[in-house]
Amino acid sequence: MKARMSAKTAENRLKEAGLEVTDHRLQVLMAVGNTAHPSSAPEILEIISTKKDINRVTVYRILDLLVEHAVLNRLSLGEKSQRFCLRNAREDEHPHFHCTRCDSYLCLHVKTLSLDQKVLDGLSLDVRHVDIRLEGVCLACQDKSDRF
Ligand SMILES: [Zn+2]
Ligand SMILES: [Zn+2]
Repeated sequence: MKARMSAKTAENRLKEAGLEVTDHRLQVLMAVGNTAHPSSAPEILEIISTKKDINRVTVYRILDLLVEHAVLNRLSLGEKSQRFCLRNAREDEHPHFHCTRCDSYLCLHVKTLSLDQKVLDGLSLDVRHVDIRLEGVCLACQDKSDRF
């Protein structure tokens, strides 16, 4: 698979967020950045541990830190399930699509369901995180059902 996030890009993203650049942080960020769909913590751990000796707690801590600094989005999907994807510093938070057949998640473009910032501001609420989820059947599952 073609890498979407280089080490250099990851490094700049950490600096931009005011974080110290460490090898482990780079590895975690690149693992998320180079996965096309929002990934779970065990998935991220698996990607990194094939190359690096890193433990679970470290990976989980770094994920929390990156979410805190708005480098990553955290999708909370019930009590135990969480997935992570890249958050663009200069964009609004993007919506996600959940396939109810294969339980996969996709990041959608921010314009798919854009938020009206004026309306939001008018509510005078202190919005910290936006979580919009669309549900349905993904392309791969639609193709599968066509064959039957
Ligand atoms: Zn599907
Ligand atoms: Zn996403």
